Amino acid sequence: MKPRIKYFFIYFLLLLLLLSPSLVAYVIEKLPSRFILCILIQGGLLLLPFGIFHKNLRLYLYLLIGWILLAPFALISPVFFGIEMNTDFLILVINTTFREAIELFGKLIIPFILFFIVYVGLYIFLVKKSVKKISRKTGIFISILGIVMFMTGIISGTGFQNLAVNTKAGLVSYYPTDILYSALKYSEKIKRVDHEVLIKNYTFQAKKEDTLKDREIYVLVIGETARYQNWGLNGYKRNTSPLLEKRKNLLSFSDVSTVGCMTELSVPLIITRAKPYDFEQHYSEKGISGAFAESGFQTYWISNQEDYFNIRMHVNELKNVINLAPSRSSSQSVYDIKVVDAFDSVLKNDHSKKIFFILHTMGSHFDYSKRYPPEFNVFRPSGNGEPINAMNPDNKEIMVNSYDNSILYTDMILDSLISLIKQENAVSYLMYLSDHGENLYDDSRMRFLHPPSEPTKYVAHIPFFIWTSPDYNSAYPQKTKELHNHLNSPISSGDVFETLLDMANITYPKANLNESISSDKFQNSKQEILGGDMKIYNFKNLH
Ligand SMILES: [Zn+2]
Repeated sequence: MKPRIKYFFIYFLLLLLLLSPSLVAYVIEKLPSRFILCILIQGGLLLLPFGIFHKNLRLYLYLLIGWILLAPFALISPVFFGIEMNTDFLILVINTTFREAIELFGKLIIPFILFFIVYVGLYIFLVKKSVKKISRKTGIFISILGIVMFMTGIISGTGFQNLAVNTKAGLVSYYPTDILYSALKYSEKIKRVDHEVLIKNYTFQAKKEDTLKDREIYVLVIGETARYQNWGLNGYKRNTSPLLEKRKNLLSFSDVSTVGCMTELSVPLIITRAKPYDFEQHYSEKGISGAFAESGFQTYWISNQEDYFNIRMHVNELKNVINLAPSRSSSQSVYDIKVVDAFDSVLKNDHSKKIFFILHTMGSHFDYSKRYPPEFNVFRPSGNGEPINAMNPDNKEIMVNSYDNSILYTDMILDSLISLIKQENAVSYLMYLSDHGENLYDDSRMRFLHPPSEPTKYVAHIPFFIWTSPDYNSAYPQKTKELHNHLNSPISSGDVFETLLDMANITYPKANLNESISSDKFQNSKQEILGGDMKIYNFKNLH
């Protein structure tokens, strides 16, 4: 090969390597126009400094290793989650613990690292083969080519008007500048959202409408990744809820959709007044425990999860917090029975007349087989103990078995909580719902887990149960009757906030009884769902 052609070829390969993280992402996301614009905009950007570095080209190419090191960030969201990087998603990635990453991508992490080493190695190999310097004339020519490519990309992407604005938009929406920009936005957001300061003087002006002579104990259980259809009491072919099926005064609502399709979005939307179209409203308001506290309740948060940023800020509002989740780097899991034990010990030691609990469980979080002890390994084979490649649809049966075992275990957890509350002979309710559902290779789309974009009906349709104590039913017969009336109404987990307060007969000036299923004023929910891509989906349009 002629030296010139050889060097041209090497530079072509180097450019291709530098651009490949985004090009691969756009192929996965099926965005052909972004693919071409990326070659023009980011390719042009890469060629731009050739004129300056013409005497020392290798130095420039070595500096670009920084560009390459950002590749994993660009690839994680499209490769593993099928969506483009955004600031909120970056928060989720940063908040993913080591343990969760291992559980989820166990088998993929080592190939991913090996691939990355080869990728960087190949880049350095090619740099060493490249020419050390070029003539000033050639350098300037390449720089001009870079400018032409860059501007062609910007103009064909967004038009001639507002060139400065469009140039900035072009820069911040392509790898690797998009990642740096997202990181900057993230740090700004963390600084801006000083929740403690924002809610300093916040009050619901909530008050309890009556004074009961009996003790009151109200409990919200936020489950994890449990979907509607895998519960025996919702008509599943397997008897996964033998205990709850026998419970009197337990209602299962049939048409409830999640309000957010991942934990970090769903939980704040359940426990605050924020709505999917204004998620950030929750930054400047207190969670529901605040309204209970104003009404004279002792409030507890007992969690078996590491509650992150968006949830953590509301946990910090409570005085009584019991966190049972293992430390970040631990590979051990804690079974939800620990939540029951902690709940039991609070009931034994706190004799307050009014108590409100939020229990945040691990439920059916992947790896399902790690959520229950051996006694609950009923549906087999379930992969307990053996390493299973969950990403392989051929293992569907094992995944479904272990998932069903985790539901069976949750049935026992909920039933035990109800037993403990019942012993107190108080005016009580226990509300259980899941933060979202799960895909289990259900149809030809072969979806698994709960990817942040485009939820399926399997992710959106959640179990929602309310148990009321005999004393509750006699104290509030009208509310109990309305709950029965709404058993098959379209409901969203976004209705939980108003329902919990109304069921406890707590009012506040901004109360909206249209969202309370224990009220005759309830109006069918629009069942809007916030996706991890921050788009709004409608439950009834999902498949
Ligand atoms: Zn979740």
